[in-house]
Amino acid sequence: MERARAVIPNGMYGHESVALLPEGYPQFFSRAEGARLWDVDGNEYLDYMCAFGPNLFGYGHAEIDTAAAAQRARGDTMTGPGEAMVAFAEAMVAQVSHADWAMFCKNGTDATSMAVATARAHTGRGKILVGRGTYHGASGWAIQRASRGLMPEDKAHVIHFRYNDVESLADAVKMAGDDLAGIMITPFRHEVFQDQFLPDPAFLQFARESCDRAGALLIVDDVRAGFRLDRDCSIEAYGVSPDLSCWGKAIANGQPVSALLGVEKARQAAGSIVATGSFWFSAVPMAAGVATMRAIRETDYLERTIARGTALREGLQQQAAAHGFTLRQTGPAQMPQILFEEDPDFRFGYAWVTEALDRGVYLSPYHNMFICSALTEADVRLTLERTDDAFAALKARRSSVQPVEKIQPLVEAIRAANR
Ligand code: PMP
Repeated sequence: MERARAVIPNGMYGHESVALLPEGYPQFFSRAEGARLWDVDGNEYLDYMCAFGPNLFGYGHAEIDTAAAAQRARGDTMTGPGEAMVAFAEAMVAQVSHADWAMFCKNGTDATSMAVATARAHTGRGKILVGRGTYHGASGWAIQRASRGLMPEDKAHVIHFRYNDVESLADAVKMAGDDLAGIMITPFRHEVFQDQFLPDPAFLQFARESCDRAGALLIVDDVRAGFRLDRDCSIEAYGVSPDLSCWGKAIANGQPVSALLGVEKARQAAGSIVATGSFWFSAVPMAAGVATMRAIRETDYLERTIARGTALREGLQQQAAAHGFTLRQTGPAQMPQILFEEDPDFRFGYAWVTEALDRGVYLSPYHNMFICSALTEADVRLTLERTDDAFAALKARRSSVQPVEKIQPLVEAIRAANR
């Protein structure tokens, strides 16, 4: 960290910075394999963050890494893309039912920003509706948290609505008037420092109908949840189909590539926007993506992650109760958010994950976590042995656990935005 602070602002930045985590969380890692990772001091952890989403099949997955290595031997960042780009687009279009075409980029923010541009190009209008407090990336239009360096104009054409609230969405649609270009939604509500919740089918339906009435595009931001809930776009299970969907994180099991997928009617608009980057067409991530799509089609990864997540959830619930605590475990079991009941300043959550970390289990006290399909039943049992000890240690020092001062301004801002 000392070396990092000398040459990197604050030593680290962004979502993988440990600034908001409890003291003692490692910042730099030396290695990862399957469901485990090792920090630079050699400590081993069962990793429930999965790189904040990209690790779906396990770090260093044999078939996916073999496909990537074979492509690397032939060429990666070249003067043009490899055949793998077409194969990856074919595989994603075949996998995602609403998709007629695919465009690739590097990060989730690229995909959501391209979706915004495509909706505007398609409609010739400006206003984009997004959920209040919903994360769609680190670009001016999308950032809702306090951040220096932004201008009000960056968000001049973004209107916020309350997620799952039909009336609030109706107000936002009305406010957009005849300038509505698109509505962007995440497939469920998965924001930091708060419980997760699933979408109300009536809310999804209303978003779909509002777009249809206005000729605007419905955009699903599946960057975080994509292929973790379903082998298709995450809202298809509700009988609602988007016009555009944004993907990233897990689509190449950790290789850097993201995607914008769309329906036929949006193809021309997507082809009319400026969208490019030096590394966007690198062939190695595309080859990894093709192998990942095969694993999504052909393995029981989804059922495994749900089963492991459910076993973990049930075990933790019993342990917490036995030690006199109540957990709020929300969202899909394979993307768990674990918060403590009656813990408004997060002191118990922070203390408990610290006890777990000391015992080799890497959990987050404020961000949803991820289960990868490399996690075994034995790993879950080992995790539960360690978390049981962590609960016992927390119980023993319950009366002396201190509030977490450094997160209070952020928690207050989130509560205000939710009001
Ligand atoms: N949308 C959602 C829902 C996300 O979770 C994220 C990343 N956490 C993004 C967009 C942005 O993706 P990236 O960090 O790859 O730019």
